[in-house]
Amino acid sequence: MQEQILQALRQVVDPDLNRDIVSLGFIKDLKIRDGSVSFTLELTTPACPVREIMKSEAYKRVMAVPGVREVDIKLTSQVRPSRSEQKERLIPQVSNVIPVASGKGGVGKSTVSVNLAMALAGMGARVGIMDADVYGPSIPTLLGIARAPENQGERFVPPNVHGVKVISMGFFLPPGEAVIWRGPMLHHAIEQFLGQVEWGALDYLIVDLPPGTGDVQLSLCQMIPLTGAVVVSTPQDVALKVAEKAIIMFDKLNTPVLGLIENMSGFVCSQCGHHEDVFGAGGARRYALQRGIPFLGEIPLATEIRATSDEGTPIVVARPGSPSARVFSGLAGNLAAQVSILNSRGGADDRPVPREIRQPTRQKLAIRWSDGKESVLDAYRLRLECPCAECVDESTGRKKLDPASVPADVWPTSLHPVGRYAMSFVWSDGHSSGIYTHEHLRRLS
Ligand code: ADP
Repeated sequence: MQEQILQALRQVVDPDLNRDIVSLGFIKDLKIRDGSVSFTLELTTPACPVREIMKSEAYKRVMAVPGVREVDIKLTSQVRPSRSEQKERLIPQVSNVIPVASGKGGVGKSTVSVNLAMALAGMGARVGIMDADVYGPSIPTLLGIARAPENQGERFVPPNVHGVKVISMGFFLPPGEAVIWRGPMLHHAIEQFLGQVEWGALDYLIVDLPPGTGDVQLSLCQMIPLTGAVVVSTPQDVALKVAEKAIIMFDKLNTPVLGLIENMSGFVCSQCGHHEDVFGAGGARRYALQRGIPFLGEIPLATEIRATSDEGTPIVVARPGSPSARVFSGLAGNLAAQVSILNSRGGADDRPVPREIRQPTRQKLAIRWSDGKESVLDAYRLRLECPCAECVDESTGRKKLDPASVPADVWPTSLHPVGRYAMSFVWSDGHSSGIYTHEHLRRLS
């Protein structure tokens, strides 16, 4: 019955956080006795404007579970300390925390994480790498580390490998055993990895996340302000929109995406040098451009990358002069540049966002931006610039929409914000699938 009740409560979604109240950890003290259910709904602020709505929704859902006779819900709240306070407590000397994510496994996320970390260290930065891929921690293998970290009392001293401090879930998991991680356990583990590790002063802490969009990502984003995420995808991953899930997740969690990396992009034969685009080419670059996300670069599918990883020394260390190592160094430079750009703007929240949107006439849209700029956009032109897959060929970037098919007097009948980064429109011609990033709107104006 407990599982049924939790299942019912998973249908209740916090409209601000866009996640269900169970995975958000709002349900406390669930008690069930002879059909009588009680629990506490712990919100993140006592000023939650939809608290009563959520409570009554939770009540209805639980009452609908067979066998439940009565439901008693207590509403409380616990204001989470401001993100920077948390950071001060956990990792005061770490300047930038950069998660590396992917929509699915096997795209080379861990390979990219270690090589980026090593390349940054090679450039003189103080770097750490935290392997938070609880389901398949591969960093110890990639770096050939067999020993567990030493501890000093309650704290762990991370091994230093080629100048990079490393900590991995793999050090702590019983070998050969499958651990079933629950949300609170993961949260606690991430907290320990940050707060109980002697990271010391770091310029960059690279975090190798598990693939997909889950509790580790949520915990990390909630716990400390992340500088921004790197998303790794393969060319076909972009075509299948798998990488997009990770990007959308970060956006929902208010974490900027520092850049997209295309891995396994084309194969160069080590015998004859022939280049072959096995999975197509340039998809991630085009996608990044469409979404207004920086594109950090492409890594070819190369035997030497796989071989050096298997041997436990990443290619940027094992063969620093090789073409693949140079690609990684270029990527690391691009990443460091994006971090600086973002920080110089005062972090994520400095990107201009629309403050006020008016329709002075039906065919005009006037936007006042947070940086004071005013733009007036023509509705017909805006409709023609729709970036959705129906209007633009995703693989070539060519426009598919025939301007003659759009009525000259088209107008937006309604518009909606999409996360922190974009807007979508419902048009009078019935079209509604385009997501216009703020960058795209700024460019159009
Ligand atoms: P993930 O962390 O996304 O699951 P890994 O980094 O573990 O992926 O990589 C999966 C496999 O692909 C590994 O065997 C790795 O050596 C290999 N690999 C990753 N990137 C490349 C590349 N660019 N060229 C060749 N092999 C690669």
